[in-house]
Amino acid sequence: MMKGRVFKSTGSWYTVLAEGKFYECRLRGKLRLDDEKVTNPVAVGDWVNIAPENDTEAIIKDVLPRENYIIRKSTRKKKHSHRLAANIDQAVLIVTLAFPRTSLGFIDRFLVSCESFRIPAVLVFNKADLLDEEGLEYYEALKFDYQELGYKVLLVSAEENIGMEELKAVLEGKTSLFAGHSGVGKSTLLNLISPHIDQRIGEVSESVGKGVHTTTFAEMFEAWEGAFVIDTPGIKELGLWDIGNEELSHYFPEMREYIGECKFNNCTHTHEPGCAFREAMEEGKIAPSRYESYLSILEDEDSHR
Ligand code: GDP
Ligand code: ZN
Repeated sequence: MMKGRVFKSTGSWYTVLAEGKFYECRLRGKLRLDDEKVTNPVAVGDWVNIAPENDTEAIIKDVLPRENYIIRKSTRKKKHSHRLAANIDQAVLIVTLAFPRTSLGFIDRFLVSCESFRIPAVLVFNKADLLDEEGLEYYEALKFDYQELGYKVLLVSAEENIGMEELKAVLEGKTSLFAGHSGVGKSTLLNLISPHIDQRIGEVSESVGKGVHTTTFAEMFEAWEGAFVIDTPGIKELGLWDIGNEELSHYFPEMREYIGECKFNNCTHTHEPGCAFREAMEEGKIAPSRYESYLSILEDEDSHR
């Protein structure tokens, strides 16, 4: 028996790296789903015990306890959700302030998901080369705000090779899940970070283009020794589906301290007098854009969660 880590999954086959070699694995017949809410018992990033059958194939015997994981709701059948990835040290969201411009609402939704899965988040602003002075000032203001909340923030340019060393330093020795809207330069950045990732990304986007993939699976790469990157082709949001309204403010770090401080104990923090959240915003302790994101997630409750 060997301990290995799942790099890729097609649903029936799993690619596992164990003792320096990749094995194509199937699941032991008796391997049970540990959670009836999900359809896949084994996810990318999982640590597993495998029993080799020959030089290239093995059986996954069990899954080792996970530190964390991300569950995604399948868009087609609500009941059928899958674990996107497991054992993630941080989630890296690639965003841009121009061409295309990533909205703050989208960034905040992503951060809320990360909070709910208890995964630290990093915001990487790409396309620094396209920012004028005003753009740079705006970036600095955002950086200040998001760092205050406890998130790492970086400015890079894949085009001009700026900030790559800082980005690599953030990834060093960790398992990082990458996400971002299409067009922000995620593929370009991943290619720059590691030559290993290059061809694989081409493969994935090609098959997505042909409409082959119906469910999106993540795939892990070792960018360099000890730095694991999980790419999530076609995935924009991690999903907020099992967060209740009462719970939502817990995932806004700057709002936590005001929980329970409102005049009405059933305050929805939308319009009530004596709302501690609104007062904190009016006093400049909660950024208006963050409060707006909070309200917008509340409103989306039915359509998105
Ligand atoms: P993805 O959809 O996020 O994977 O984005 P791509 O990596 O395919 O990049 C989308 C477009 O943005 C391509 O035309 C890239 O050449 C361009 N791009 C990527 N990074 C940068 C950057 O730092 N600056 C500029 N100006 N363009 C970039
Ligand atoms: Zn309130």
